[in-house]
Amino acid sequence: MGAGPHWMPAMARGFRNRCPHCGEGRLFGRFLKVRPDCEACGMEFHHHRADDLPPYLVIFVVGHIVGLGVLESEMRLDLPFWFQMTVWPALALVASLLLLQPTKGAVVGLQYALGMHGFAAIRRAGAGPAGAPAEHETEMRHGGRTDGRNGGSGRP
Ligand SMILES: [Zn+2]
Repeated sequence: MGAGPHWMPAMARGFRNRCPHCGEGRLFGRFLKVRPDCEACGMEFHHHRADDLPPYLVIFVVGHIVGLGVLESEMRLDLPFWFQMTVWPALALVASLLLLQPTKGAVVGLQYALGMHGFAAIRRAGAGPAGAPAEHETEMRHGGRTDGRNGGSGRP
């Protein structure tokens, strides 16, 4: 993975609802609906495969924050029952809704940066980011599957 865009700026752009390639165009059309391509640079997004990684990550993060809050407040504070039964579920819901789109954007940005799935084909065709096509061809030959599918949904 020598050439190609760095994963960090690509993920940061995706997190901010920006095209991971140019950072200008918007990545999402609707809440969690990724646009087919970038309105600014034309980079195609439709072949991303974020699948259920974004919700998995969001559940992991929000679950730890809210879970810790429930435990700590239960042990240290004398909060009324109705408070515990309303604030924590509401916080979990709001935090999840706020984090889902940025997280999905970051995952798509990572797939773009790593040349995963359809993003690899774009790079090979030379329409994508500066990469070394020859190097990727070599990678493909040694790396096994080249059809951009992982054979499953990628569930853990
Ligand atoms: Zn773009």
